[in-house]
Amino acid sequence: MTGLSIDTVDIAILGGGAAGALVARHLLALRDLRVALVEPRGVAGRGAAYSTARPEHLLNVNAARMSAFQDVPDDFLAFLAARRGVAPADLAGVFAQRRDYGAYLEDRVAAVVDQAALDLRTTSAVELQANGRGYAIGLADGGMLTARTVVLALGNLPAALPVPVRDAGPDAVVEAWDYEAIAAIDPADDVAIVGAGLSMVDTLLTLLANGHRGGIVAMSRHGLMPLSHAPGTQPQPGGVEALLPLGVRARMRLLRQWAAGAQAEGGRWQDALERLRPHVQTLWQAWSAGEQRRFLRHAVRLWDTHRHRIAPEVGDRIAAMRADGRFRLHAGRLEAIGSTSDGRLRIDWHPRGDTRGAQMTVDRIVNATGTEKRVDRAGGSLLPALLAQGLARPGPHGIGLDTSPAGQVLGADGAPVAGLWTLGALRTGTLWESVAMPELRGQAARLAEAALAGLEASH
Ligand SMILES: Cc1cc2nc3c(=O)[nH]c(=O)nc-3n(C[C@H](O)[C@H](O)[C@H](O)COP(=O)(O)OP(=O)(O)OC[C@H]3O[C@@H](n4cnc5c(N)ncnc54)[C@H](O)[C@@H]3O)c2cc1C
Repeated sequence: MTGLSIDTVDIAILGGGAAGALVARHLLALRDLRVALVEPRGVAGRGAAYSTARPEHLLNVNAARMSAFQDVPDDFLAFLAARRGVAPADLAGVFAQRRDYGAYLEDRVAAVVDQAALDLRTTSAVELQANGRGYAIGLADGGMLTARTVVLALGNLPAALPVPVRDAGPDAVVEAWDYEAIAAIDPADDVAIVGAGLSMVDTLLTLLANGHRGGIVAMSRHGLMPLSHAPGTQPQPGGVEALLPLGVRARMRLLRQWAAGAQAEGGRWQDALERLRPHVQTLWQAWSAGEQRRFLRHAVRLWDTHRHRIAPEVGDRIAAMRADGRFRLHAGRLEAIGSTSDGRLRIDWHPRGDTRGAQMTVDRIVNATGTEKRVDRAGGSLLPALLAQGLARPGPHGIGLDTSPAGQVLGADGAPVAGLWTLGALRTGTLWESVAMPELRGQAARLAEAALAGLEASH
């Protein structure tokens, strides 16, 4: 590695979204340490989800459940209430703007970001090598850090389009998480959105807010999109013990019965999902590898659309766009993307359940395929380098990285790698439910304590 300078810290956190920023905050609250936070966005806490400046992008969890601290459950409510000048109780069921949540996280980590002890680097980590006493981290700006302990807080890995785009200009494809580029799409353009999850919903909302007049089509293999939260949802009473010994099919059957039971008692199907919500990691880990595979093959799409729900007002807006034809959602397989002689984009695709192929012509394509779970398909150089050196191995089913229960990364030999930790999306294979704030906040607090204990033990 060549470097402009080599700086030594106790702990380097790679990725400064919600997860990395919270780990930094906890670490610096625990002890006087030298901590580096490496984040190309240059701000701590916002990450991919909360960097949006668009008012139409809402949280998909209500404000009462979005505290960044498990032991202060009303913390976000208090922040939001103070900002809006209303009582916290009035906001509990509100789906706040994501930009306000970003401001909240920034505010809550500002105290440590301002400390001289935190070295915030506006760049990416591109290389990581064990050096006997810890790690040497190569940075994209040419700098280098050495650290005894490293925390990988890289968040969701962006997914690529499933097919290459042939002969088209650089602006043909817009990434859904590039919020400014989405907002800059010409309202007269015909737009095809690839993917039908939460990033597609974000895109649609921005097009709607900009008075889009062109056609909007979204396409996914199953043509399923996230369902809505129901106002006033209450977790159905009862535990999940009955689900634990069951395989995929039997669990789904029982879950449908619970949903029907909730509805029969005047509740909603969402109540049954809320009953499961705190136990998803336990339910995932109770399955054998074979049963987990069955879930990934047959049930994951249905699970995702029910689990990752959108704010009711967002669901209503999209339903209205579908009803009046401004937005169409197709189920099918994308086969090829190329350009037409008049400079537009031609999409060849295969409608689900149809023997014949179909084409459409659009002006822009939005990549809203969401997150890449398989670590061997991760872009960039950092994760491939870790895997190649045996400092990490893929998690169950190739999803994320394999980790110990405390979040220590497991090497190629299955043993915990000294001083290497991770949290969030990279733990999805091990935990399944590992990206939302209700999980991240606990992981961040526990990881800070465990990483610090490991650091002290190695002295
Ligand atoms: C669009 C969207 C909306 C969401 N809405 C909600 C919600 O309403 N409620 C909820 O609970 N959860 C939501 N989530 C889930 C979300 O994943 C978490 O809430 C949280 O933001 C994840 O934080 P993170 O730090 O793990 O990941 P990220 O926010 O993705 O942060 C990871 C950071 O790592 C940086 N990075 C990546 N590679 C490198 C590298 N090599 N070197 C240095 N830095 C690097 C990236 O720049 C990024 O900022 C949403 C997710 C998305 C994508």
